[in-house]
Amino acid sequence: MKINLIYIFLLSLLLSYGQICLFGQVNESKTHNNSGNYNLKSAQIEYNYDMKFQRLNFIVNPAFRFIEGNATIYYKTTQQIDTLVLDLFDSLKVDSVKKNQLLNFSHSNNLLKIKTSSTVNIIDSLTIYYSGVPSDFDYFFQGVHSDTNSTSIISSFSEPYGTYSWMPCKQDLTDKIDSVEIIITSPSGYITASNGVLISDVNNGITNISHWKHRHPIDYYLIGFSTTNYQVNNSKIGLSNGDSILIVNYLYPESYSVEVAKISDFQNVFQFFYDYAGEYPYKNEKYGHAQWSRGGGMEHQTMGFMENLKFSLVAHELSHQWFGDYITCGSWKDIWLNEGFATFYTYYIEKFFHNGYWFKLLLKGDSEYVCSIPDGSVYCNDTTSVSRIFSRRLTYCKGGLVLNSLRWEIGDSAFFGAIKNYVKDSLLINNIAETDDIKKHFEQSADTSLTEFFNDWIYGEGYPIYNLVWEHDSLNNLLIQVNQTTSHSSVNFYEMHLPIHVYGNNTDTVLRLHNTFDEQIFSIPVNFVVDSIKFNEDYEIITKDINILQNINKVFDYEQIKIYPSPSKNILTIEIFRNIVEDLKLKIVNINGSTVYENKIKSNKLQLDVSGFAKGIYFIQLNGTKINKIRKFEVQ
Ligand SMILES: [Zn+2]
Repeated sequence: MKINLIYIFLLSLLLSYGQICLFGQVNESKTHNNSGNYNLKSAQIEYNYDMKFQRLNFIVNPAFRFIEGNATIYYKTTQQIDTLVLDLFDSLKVDSVKKNQLLNFSHSNNLLKIKTSSTVNIIDSLTIYYSGVPSDFDYFFQGVHSDTNSTSIISSFSEPYGTYSWMPCKQDLTDKIDSVEIIITSPSGYITASNGVLISDVNNGITNISHWKHRHPIDYYLIGFSTTNYQVNNSKIGLSNGDSILIVNYLYPESYSVEVAKISDFQNVFQFFYDYAGEYPYKNEKYGHAQWSRGGGMEHQTMGFMENLKFSLVAHELSHQWFGDYITCGSWKDIWLNEGFATFYTYYIEKFFHNGYWFKLLLKGDSEYVCSIPDGSVYCNDTTSVSRIFSRRLTYCKGGLVLNSLRWEIGDSAFFGAIKNYVKDSLLINNIAETDDIKKHFEQSADTSLTEFFNDWIYGEGYPIYNLVWEHDSLNNLLIQVNQTTSHSSVNFYEMHLPIHVYGNNTDTVLRLHNTFDEQIFSIPVNFVVDSIKFNEDYEIITKDINILQNINKVFDYEQIKIYPSPSKNILTIEIFRNIVEDLKLKIVNINGSTVYENKIKSNKLQLDVSGFAKGIYFIQLNGTKINKIRKFEVQ
C-alpha cells in the first residue's frame, strides 16, 4: 500500500508537470522530422549478390558531423554480373574503390555502381574509400549530451532507411550480413560503443581506436556505433539455466552513478526475458546499453542505444534482441513483429515488477490512446511513410495490446509456448519473419485457426464497441445480452471471449463468454443475487465507451431464438439462448399451415437441412412449458 501511494504521488507529479507519458510508456522517437522517407527505390534494385561480411573502418570526431574512412565488403554473387550495386547517399564522396586494383565506379541517385566481375557463388571482396557529411540529421546524430553539458557525441541511427546515409550498404531487410567488424578512430578522450565483442580499445594519447566484432547475422539497420567520453560499467549476470551474460553500460560520466543505480535489478529483468521469451541469442558476446542524445531508443544488435536507463526503455530495447534483431521483420509492413512485441513485453514485465502496479494502467492508457481515433490497422500498409511505420498508436500500442488480447484469447500457456517455438524456429532465427510466420506458431500452439483474429485485429482497422444489458431473472439465471458495433467498416464483427466480472453476495466471479454474433444472449445459472457486472476490467480487449445497463424494466426477450440464415438454401441453424430443462417441440409449417417437419429437441443449437423444402415462407413453432415461440423464415 505504501508503495502504491508513492506511485500515485509520482504519477500525480508527472501529470502535474503536463507530461503525458506514464511511467512504463515508451517513446522510441524513431519517426523523423523531415526527410526520413527517402530511399524507397531500394525495393526495386536487383542486387544479385549475398552480403557476407562488412568491415567498417571510420574516423570520427564527435564535435563534427562528418565521417571518413573505408568499408570493406565480402559478398557472393548469385549470378554473373559486371556491376556491383550498393546504396550510398550522394552527399558522401567516394574517393576510390579497390579490389586488387582500382575499380571504375559511378555514384549518382544514391547508388554506388562498381564495375567488377565475380565468379558466381565464390566469396569476393572490395574496399570503398569515402568521406563526407551524412545526409540526414535524423539518421546520423551529432550533438552534445544535454543542454547543460557541452560534451560532444556522435551516434549512427539507421532504421528504417538510413544506413546508406552514412555507409555503403545493401539496404535490403531480407539479406542479413553474416558478421561485421567496426573500427572507430576518434580523438583521445572519446571511446566508441558498438555491436558484438570489444576486441580492443587502444589510446595513443592522440587518438583512440575502438575495435568491435560481431559474429552473428545482422540486418543492415542494426549496425550502429556511438562515440563520446563514455564511462564504462561492466558486470556479469547469471540466469536460472546457468547462462552467464556480460553486461556493458556505456554511460555519460556526469550521470554515471544515477544511471547505474537504475539497473540494479537488471538481473531480474534478464531472467524475465529468459522465462517468457527464451535464451538470449547473443550470450557468447554481450548485451549493452549506450547512452545517446538523439532521444528515445534504438535496438542496435547487442547494444541498445537510449537516452537514459529508464526501466521501460531498458525492457523495450532488450526485448528487441529477440523481436527485431534475432528475428527481424521481413518487410516494413510487418514492423509490428518488432515494435508490437517489444511493446507487449514492456507491458507484461510490469506484472512482475513494481508490485504489478503499472500493468493495468499501461493497458488502460494505451487502449484509450488506440481508441482515440476510430481507424488504423496494426499491419503497416504504407511503408513510404516513416511516421506510419513507427506510428506509436498503431504499430506500438495497438500491436502490443492485440498481443495481450491474443494471450487472453488462447491462454498464457499456448501464447508463450508459441513465442518460445517462434524464437527457436530455425527458418526464422538469424533471419526474417512475416506476419504469417508468427500466426502459424500461435495457431499450432493453440491448436485453432486464428485467421479471423488476424483479419480483424492485425489487418482490419478500428475496434469493437460494446453495449451490455443484463438482468437476474426469476429462474436464477443471469442473462446478459451483448450488442456490438465496430468503429470501422473494415471489420463487421469481432469474435472474442468476453471477460465479465459478476459481483453480488460479497463475491466476485469472472466469466469468459464466447461472443460469436451481435445481440447474443448468454444465460448463466447463478446461486446468489447479482448486484452488478463489469466488463473488460483488466483491459483484455481493445475497446472504449462500454455501456452496461441493468434491465430493470424486464423487457428482455426471455426465450430468444435466433434462426439463420434467412433466406436459406441448405442448412438452417436454430439457436436458443437459455437453459433448456425439457424436450421442446419443434414444428415447421408452410404458408398454407401444413406441417413439413416435426421433432423434439433438447439442445441449444440445431441444424436442419432445408435444401429439400420448396421455396417459400415457413414458420417455426417451438413449444415447452416456459417457451412458446413462433418465428418466420424463408427458403430460397
Ligand atoms: Zn522498439
